[in-house]
Amino acid sequence: MSGLLPVEEAQARLLALRAPLLPEKISFSECVGRYTSDDILALRDQPAAALSAMDGYAIRFEDLPGPWTITGESAAGAAPDRMVGAGEAMRIFTGAILPDGADAIVVQEDVADDGAMLTLTGEGPGARGRHIRARADDFAEGECLLPAGTRLTPGAIAAAAMSGAGQLAVGRRPRVAILTTGDELVPAGRALAPGQIPDSNSPMLAAMLAGEPAIVSLPHHVRDDRAILAKLLKELARRHDAIVTVGGASVGDHDHVRGALQDAGGQIDFWKIAMRPGKPLMAGTIGDAVLLGLPGNPSSAFVTATLFLLPLVRHLAGARDPLPTVHRAPLEIALDGGDGRRDYLRARLKNGRLTPLIGQDSGRTMPLAAANALLIRDIGAPPCDAGATADYIVIA
Ligand code: AMP
Ligand code: MG
Repeated sequence: MSGLLPVEEAQARLLALRAPLLPEKISFSECVGRYTSDDILALRDQPAAALSAMDGYAIRFEDLPGPWTITGESAAGAAPDRMVGAGEAMRIFTGAILPDGADAIVVQEDVADDGAMLTLTGEGPGARGRHIRARADDFAEGECLLPAGTRLTPGAIAAAAMSGAGQLAVGRRPRVAILTTGDELVPAGRALAPGQIPDSNSPMLAAMLAGEPAIVSLPHHVRDDRAILAKLLKELARRHDAIVTVGGASVGDHDHVRGALQDAGGQIDFWKIAMRPGKPLMAGTIGDAVLLGLPGNPSSAFVTATLFLLPLVRHLAGARDPLPTVHRAPLEIALDGGDGRRDYLRARLKNGRLTPLIGQDSGRTMPLAAANALLIRDIGAPPCDAGATADYIVIA
C-alpha cells in the first residue's frame, strides 16, 4: 500500500519532533523509573577495603589447620585495631574490614572457640582469599556505573546510591495531556443513553503511563466539534509537553483532530502508518508541544500507545533506548503471510511459544485483556508453519 509510513520511520520522525527535556537533580527516593541525564561515575571504590563475606575468623591461610590464639575482633562499621600475626585468629563478622596479615576467613561453623583458643572442627577455607570480598570488586572509583539515559530501576538505584552520589541528575518528566474525542463517550461507570459507550481508552492509557516518568493530566474530553477541539488544543499546548488525542484521527465526517490541529496553528508531521491496527495514527506539533493522535478503537489505541506514546514519553524524559524491545519466540500455530501493513497481533506467550488470540478486530477489548504480547507479522512476510520463529513485544 503506498503512502503509508513504515513504523520505524514514523517512530524516528515522532522522536525528532522535540528534544529531551532539561535535567533536574532529585533525591533517590524520587528517582525510580526516571532516566539518568549524565553518566553516573563511581566516586569511590566499593568495597573501599577488603571485607569478610562471612561470620567467622580471619586467619593466615598458611597457618591451617590451626589451632590459633584468638586476638580481638573486627565488626562492620569500624577498622580493626590490630593485625593478624602467625598462629593468630581474629573474630570477624560479615561486612567487617579484613585485618592486615589475614588472607582467609574460616567460617564459624567450621571451628570451636573456647574463648582463648580456636580449633578447626570442619573443612576450613579451601583456598587463600576464601570468603573475602576484594577491594573494588563491585566497582572502582571513576568507573561508569550507569551511562546517561539509563532507566533507574531499583537495582540501578542501589548502584547509584553506592557510588557515593547524594542526588542524581535525571530528565524532567514530560507533562502529558490525554484528550478523548467522540460524542458517544461517557466516563466509565456513568449511565449510558442509547448509542453511548464507556470511555475505556482514558483509564487504559492512564494505566499504561502509570509506571512511566510522566505527569499525566486527564481526562479531557471534547465532543466531535472542530472549533471546541481547536480551542482546547491551543490551551493544552501552553501547559504540556505532549498532547495525546484519542479518536477522531481517521477520515470520517466526525474526525476533526487533523482540521482542529491546523485551525489551532499546529503542523502535521505525518499521518497514516503501514500498520494494523493503528493506521490513522497522526503526529505533529502545536507550539512547543508534540501532538500525537491515536485512533479510537481500543486495540488500535493500545498498539499505537505501545509503539509511539510510551517511546515519546521515554524520549522526552531522557531515555537512551526509548523504543520497545523486540524478542523472538516460536509460534504455536501456523500464520498467514503478511500484506502491505505490518500486523501487531494481540497474542499470548505461554511456555515460550506464541499464539495469536482469536478475534483481532481492533474494536474488541477482550483480546487486550488476555494478551501478554504483540506478535509482529511484517509487511509481505511469507506464510509460516507452527514452530517458525516470530518477533514479539512484551506488553504485560
Ligand atoms: P474514531 O477513531 O473516533 O473513529 O473511533 C473509532 C472507534 O473507537 C469508535 O467505535 C469509537 O466509538 C471508539 N472509541 C473512540 N474513543 C474511544 C474511547 N476513548 N474509549 C473507547 N472507545 C473509543
Ligand atoms: Mg470518533
